[in-house]
This record gives sequence, structure tokens and C-alpha cells, in this order.
Amino acid sequence: MPFEFYFFLGAAFVLGAVIGSFLNVCIYRIPAGKSIVSPPSSCPHCGHRIRWYQNIPILSYLFLGGQCAACRVGISLRYPAIEALTGLLFALVLYYFSFSSATLVYWIFIAALVTITFIDLDHQIIPDVISLPGIVVGFICSFFVPWLSWLDSFLGIIVGGGILLSIAWIYEKVAKREGMGGGDIKLLGMLGAFLGWKAVLPIIFIASLIGTLIGVPLMLLQKGDTKLAIPFGPFLAFAATVYLFWGHGLVYWYLNLLR
Ligand SMILES: [Zn+2]
Repeated sequence: MPFEFYFFLGAAFVLGAVIGSFLNVCIYRIPAGKSIVSPPSSCPHCGHRIRWYQNIPILSYLFLGGQCAACRVGISLRYPAIEALTGLLFALVLYYFSFSSATLVYWIFIAALVTITFIDLDHQIIPDVISLPGIVVGFICSFFVPWLSWLDSFLGIIVGGGILLSIAWIYEKVAKREGMGGGDIKLLGMLGAFLGWKAVLPIIFIASLIGTLIGVPLMLLQKGDTKLAIPFGPFLAFAATVYLFWGHGLVYWYLNLLR
């Protein structure tokens, strides 16, 4: 790898961290139905307006010792963590897709996935204002990804939305209660739009596998009869990210196992 490329990877990380800072705002405000552009960010505890130099991704958190500059109340470690995560994923996208239009497309995709993941963790919902435009944007983006035809993307929406819709319908008939949320179905339609129809089954497979490995111990650890709601969206988003970077290798590895 040429030396300059490390510089660009660093720049991609910084860009991702800045975007991640904006995603923190989206994650907090979209479920509350608030505007994501105004007013400027302020401390949720004391209302102190956060100045630009107090809003530098990751660094400000470290300089302020994880506290509000005015009232000293603790700031959640999740904010810098989301900034670092977005930065890391942006750098990975550049690493794998280099300087291509696909890199721009997947940066948009990653930003949507991070936002969806944390909103779903907080509220057990996947907002339509992200997933539905995401389906359209994903389809348009297929024209800018050299290895994805618009037909692959279109079929991805149909297969992604359709498969889960039928699973949810069968589950409801058999179990007499709602299993998978409508939000997951629209999310899978969006994943199909961005990654194509061939990605849908591997994504469901990876998400279910990880979901079982993490979800079952969590459910067993619970006391009493309160049912912990474990959202499926974060597993789908994680699986889509794994598929984006290592999908082709994984599919070949799995098919070789069967031989
Ligand atoms: Zn404060």
C-alpha cells in the first residue's frame, strides 16, 4: 500500500468521526420528532450551548474529561464511541473500495446503518424516515456501483422486503403474535437495494446466527417473566456491514464447506 494511502485512510476516519458526531444528533432527535438542523447542540442537563471547540469529535470528550464544560455532569461514553465507530467504518470503506463512486455510496449506507442501529437499540423502532428514503436512495445508488446492476438492486428490494414479509406472516399465523416488526422488513428492503438480491439470504443467515448467539444467553439471564425486547435491526445492520466488506469471501467459504 503506497504511503499516501495511509494519509487518506486517516482523512476518511476524521470525516467519519465528524459525520458520526452528526449521527449522534440524528439518533437523539429523529425518534423524538425534532429537527436535526436546529437548534445547535446543548447539554441535556443544564442547557449549556456546546461551542464548536467543545464539539470536536472524540477529542473534546477527552479534553473535557467526559463532562459538560458548564455543569460537569457526565457525558455518555456512547457519543465518542459512535464517532470512533463511524470513523473506523469510513476508513474501512475507503480501504476496500478505494477512490471510486462506490466509496461515496457506501459512506451514505454506513451512516444510515449506524443511525438505525442505535435508534433501534434505544427505542425498538426503525424510523420510516430513514428506511423508506433509504430504499429509494439505495436503488439510485446502484447506478454508481460498477458491480451492482439496477436490476440486482430492484430484485434486492423485492426479495428483501418479500422474504421477511412472508416469514412474518407465517410466524403470526403459527404463533398468534407479531414476531418481526414491520421496521425490520423495510430495513431489509433497504439492505437489498444497496447490496443486491444475492446479499439478502447471507445477511438473514449471519444476523440470525449472531442474534441467537447473543440473544439466547441474554434471555436466559433474565429473571421473572418480563420479556426483554431484543431488537433485530442492529443484527441486520451488523450482518450487512460484514457482507459489505467480506461478503464474497464468506459465501465462497460457506459453499466450499458444503462440498
Ligand atoms: Zn451541562
